[in-house]
Amino acid sequence: MPRLILVLGDQLSEHLSALRQAEKGRDIIVMAEVMAEATHVPHHPQKIALFLTAMRKFAARLRAQGHRVAYGRLDDPETAPSIPAELLRRAAETGATRIVATTPGDWRLIAALEALPLPVEMRPDDRFLCSAEDFARWAEGRKQLRMEWFYREMRRRTGLLMQDGQPLGGRWNFDAENRKPAAPDLLRPRPKRFPPDPETEAVLDLVETRFAGHFGRLRPFHWPTDRPQALEALEHFITHALPRFGDEQDAMLTDEPFLSHSLLSSSLNLGLLDPREVCRAAEAAYHRGAAPLNAVEGFIRQILGWREFVRGIWALGGPAALGDNALGHDAPLPALFWGGPTRMACLSAAVRQTRDLAYAHHIQRLMLTGNFALLAGVAPARVHEWYLAIYIDAIEWVEAPNTLGMSQFADGGRLGSKPYVSSGAYIDRMSDYCRGCAYRVRDRTGPRACPFNLLYWHFLDRHRDRLAGNPRMAQMYRTWDRMAPDHRAQVLSEATALLARLHGGAEV
Ligand code: FAD
Ligand code: SF4
Repeated sequence: MPRLILVLGDQLSEHLSALRQAEKGRDIIVMAEVMAEATHVPHHPQKIALFLTAMRKFAARLRAQGHRVAYGRLDDPETAPSIPAELLRRAAETGATRIVATTPGDWRLIAALEALPLPVEMRPDDRFLCSAEDFARWAEGRKQLRMEWFYREMRRRTGLLMQDGQPLGGRWNFDAENRKPAAPDLLRPRPKRFPPDPETEAVLDLVETRFAGHFGRLRPFHWPTDRPQALEALEHFITHALPRFGDEQDAMLTDEPFLSHSLLSSSLNLGLLDPREVCRAAEAAYHRGAAPLNAVEGFIRQILGWREFVRGIWALGGPAALGDNALGHDAPLPALFWGGPTRMACLSAAVRQTRDLAYAHHIQRLMLTGNFALLAGVAPARVHEWYLAIYIDAIEWVEAPNTLGMSQFADGGRLGSKPYVSSGAYIDRMSDYCRGCAYRVRDRTGPRACPFNLLYWHFLDRHRDRLAGNPRMAQMYRTWDRMAPDHRAQVLSEATALLARLHGGAEV
């Protein structure tokens, strides 16, 4: 009897655990472009195009290797509307009675597969450097889960940037040398772009007709869509941008959306690149003197540390964590997140860039859009849906812990020791946005007061009961308490008025 081997759109790795089970000539690999996956949130058109193109190319590669692939195209009326329905269709067509799958990175799909009337052998997704079981063992009994301790453990375990059991350079972390503002630089290397080939063009045309209503520009499209391209993008990053990665990691510039970031997250998350090879490539650059340690360590920490850590947190939290809302926020997502007008130069730039590129780098996601949503009291579920929809690399296992945990503090501090909130001063220090803004970053009150300034104190004040006891927040509360009572009252009243305007749909 043949078995159906399910390969999802973010499982495009030849060494995928389900694929390792496939017997050529007997089993049938099932891949499908289904409407349910393209529309459960309104994904950015570039994201849909990336997934479909990469899936089609991967299927062709498997066929060339002699696998039988049953591929359901979105424009084929026979293709079922959802993954479970497509599996049942293929089972009826082929007589298969068993399914082999690699555990999806999305609780919704896991539940759907578990509910199938056919037996499903769910194999672990072992494309990570730390298995979900190992993470659970590491987390067990710990009061707080901190990425830094996990990261050190992973450095020891993998030997990355280690020498004789000690961290290279004598320190685990070189952030003190990183996180500088950036200046415009005409000579800054640009990311590798991949002009659409005929296969990609065909998908772009399809996406253009089917998903015209989704937020985001489809063209120009330049993402890597297969493994050779992803390897080229990796090589390009290591050679040209990695040396400045640390210095520019937290900087933001209006006209430089990429700075020295890698743009490798979509290739990693789809399975076109393996996290081990990416870390090893960065480490090798350090050893041959092509990149400094602060850059290489900072970059490896993002993957070996943060990426593995959030995956462990997602697996540990289970589907219930998607409903986290520790601060009880319930406001709607302001229209400016979907391109509505705003006078805030920083948010306007971040959303415009997201619309055009399906990309914003980490600090833009955390300290602009995430920070603002948190200060404005937006319901975490709405923020989660937005991030899941509009970024090229967004898959629940990595997006949800970043959004709900790191960015919105909806988990009450399981992932981060304090909420990532800031006033306008931080944004001003790390970017060039404030220079061109209708608001004044130095104004704390008044008609041109920066909204981040007003909302920052409002946030601290309304969550005093929960946050004032946090040692990492104590200094902020002392500063607030030292302000004159009249001034505090004015800040709170202007912030309340701003929130009413924002949530009432007015432009702010
Ligand atoms: P670089 O800055 O070049 O970093 C290198 C790599 O490190 C990335 O490609 C990524 O694989 C990894 N990485 C860095 N930070 C993180 C992190 N916090 N968590 C996991 N991996 C990390 N990342 C996603 O891959 N998918 C998401 O859906 C996603 N949603 C996010 C939502 C919010 C609110 C925030 C604050 C962060 C989110 N991130 C997400 C993490 C991070 O912003 C992106 O990984 C990064 O911006 C991708 O761009 P890059 O490849 O140029 O990254
Ligand atoms: Fe953003 Fe405030 Fe600066 Fe304007 S002044 S760009 S709103 S931080």
